[in-house]
Amino acid sequence: MRLDLAKSSLSIFFSFVDRSTQLSQGGVQFAIGTSIRLAGLRNRWRDPLLGARPKGDILSCFTIFDFDTGAGMGDQEEARQSYGSDRAQLVYGQKPNGRLAHITEVQRGLACGCICPACRGQLVARTKADHHVPHFAHYRGEACGGGPETVLHLLAKEMFRASPKMLLPGRLSLDHRKRVVTKPSQEVQTEFLRLEYTDPKTIIPDLYVRALEYDLFVEVAVTHFSDEAKVRRLREHRTPAVEVDLSRLSYDLTREAIADAVLRTAPRWWLYHPGIDVAETNRREDEERWRAAQDERRVGAAAKHQKRVVELISAYWEASNALAEESSQISRLEELQATGFAEHVGIEVAGFACFAVPPEVWQAIILTEVFHDRCLGNGVCKAVPITQHLEKAGLIRQQFRRVYAGLADDAAMIEPDFAPPWKAVDAYLKHLARAGVLVQHDNGMVLARQFAEPWTTRTLAEKQRTAAMHAAMQAVEWILAELPAEERGNATSESWLDSVHTESGMKYRAALQSGIEAPKISAEINAAVAMLEKRGPLPYGTVGLPIEGAIQRRKVQMAKQAGELRKKHIQEAERLRHSRRERLCIDAEEQLSGSGLDAFLNTTRDELNRMTPLEAAEDSEPGLNRARDLLSVLVRQLAREGDAAAERQHYQDKIIAEAKRRLASEHSEAFLNARDDDLGRMTPLMFVKDDSTYRKALAKLSEWDREFGHLSR
Ligand SMILES: [Zn+2]
Repeated sequence: MRLDLAKSSLSIFFSFVDRSTQLSQGGVQFAIGTSIRLAGLRNRWRDPLLGARPKGDILSCFTIFDFDTGAGMGDQEEARQSYGSDRAQLVYGQKPNGRLAHITEVQRGLACGCICPACRGQLVARTKADHHVPHFAHYRGEACGGGPETVLHLLAKEMFRASPKMLLPGRLSLDHRKRVVTKPSQEVQTEFLRLEYTDPKTIIPDLYVRALEYDLFVEVAVTHFSDEAKVRRLREHRTPAVEVDLSRLSYDLTREAIADAVLRTAPRWWLYHPGIDVAETNRREDEERWRAAQDERRVGAAAKHQKRVVELISAYWEASNALAEESSQISRLEELQATGFAEHVGIEVAGFACFAVPPEVWQAIILTEVFHDRCLGNGVCKAVPITQHLEKAGLIRQQFRRVYAGLADDAAMIEPDFAPPWKAVDAYLKHLARAGVLVQHDNGMVLARQFAEPWTTRTLAEKQRTAAMHAAMQAVEWILAELPAEERGNATSESWLDSVHTESGMKYRAALQSGIEAPKISAEINAAVAMLEKRGPLPYGTVGLPIEGAIQRRKVQMAKQAGELRKKHIQEAERLRHSRRERLCIDAEEQLSGSGLDAFLNTTRDELNRMTPLEAAEDSEPGLNRARDLLSVLVRQLAREGDAAAERQHYQDKIIAEAKRRLASEHSEAFLNARDDDLGRMTPLMFVKDDSTYRKALAKLSEWDREFGHLSR
């Protein structure tokens, strides 16, 4: 937005906060707008409510650019500026009877019959016919320049003669409870009193009217605004006075437009009003009272503060003495000692007596819980959250928990040993940083690597031990619960931990922490558990638990189980024995029968270690197999023998038939039963068994045939 100061009017509003108003309004800030007008390059301020420069501090200032948009404003402004100068152009002339006449109401030239209202010189009317913007010019000599302003004054006075209604500006006032309030502007009926007013105190107001039943001065300002001297005189005179600002008014306006501006729309303010003075006085008094009260409070607060400082210091000394008698119980001391931190706790930093415990206690907590366990999260650690953690743990004495900075600083100035808890923590962190225990990281501190790593390793090992211990405890509790009450007695897992592990001479609690003993104890406990679950072998020992009875019961039970098992084995063996015997019998019965079958089954054999086949089959599966082999050998042999007998019979039948065919019956019988040396001292009937023996016997028969046969006859 382009701002052209020459063509616009600029209003700057200041906001004032008035202390007395603030008080009388019950603490609500009450801003009074005051405008400073920059008309062209002049500047001027007026407070429409106060009528005088307001008291108070400027709290804020903001600017409002007050534009009358459109070309009209620019032209009007331009015209006003030109009329306000020596080149001002008059549009009203004064008739001999004193009346003002507009340029449009008169004849052209000297015929207008008007004089300048300011210098009273003769005027000549210039009109459009003269190729001018219509205006009055001075007939002889230079323009006096005062004409347009005088015209406005005269017109204003003229319209008040008709006793019009007029808008009075708002102002400060007091309500019925004597509080300062803003009385809004209001339109009132005026009564014209005199055209001019003169009094011994040399007040010459522009207008003197009566309104709201009191007398009122009205000042019409065009180029000359009332100065402080005038305001002072008005105050002395005690007559209310309003100033109407017509400086922005165009001089060539109609009477109606000017009347509207004067009576209502032009800016206006009180130059003086007794009500404003009273309200102002009231406000000033309120302000003074408020200041006095403030001062009193300030003095009181300072004294109270001093008292608190002294109390704080003595409380700190007291706490320090009490702490000296306190015995310290450092948590996780062993852990700190093992990891080399023990020398870094117990540092007497300033403010250490703010804590309910000796420094080594809370410092150990900072190292273990905050830095190692990271109980405040994985972020970096700072003094304030650490202090809050200690406070939650109840480690900070009540009286030092909330010490505001001013009090702490003043106390520390007097007693250098004092510091608020968070500063004590901060000092401790700084000490640790100097010792290399902590290192700066981002905006806070973390444990230095060479301290953090071995500690973490140790903690992990510790966790494993703890887990092992936990498992052992659980198992022991289970075991004890499994035992009959009379055997368990008063034993608990805790009493067990405190009993002595005979093998190492340590208590179980300590032995379970030992890398050598713990696995052995765990194994023994597991064996006991397995025994009670009726599985596994009998445990070697009792692991210090009252399980002798259970072991005995288990032993008996195991023996019983073994006996039953044996019996079962025997039965099974018997069943198998019987089965093998059966299988051999079935096989043998298929192949053999009668006495042959019995003879085979019940004859002892060398091949069967002097056992019968039945005995061998009953003895074992290999025995059965061997008996079966013997059976098949026998069967094959019997088959062969059967074949030979049949052949022999065949040849016997053949030789009998041949002998009967060739010999007479008495000779054939003799032949068949005669032993012969040629036939191995056997009879032919006995001798024949196959083709060759048959042929030999047949040859012998031929001999008999030749000797006794039918053929030889
Ligand atoms: Zn003049």
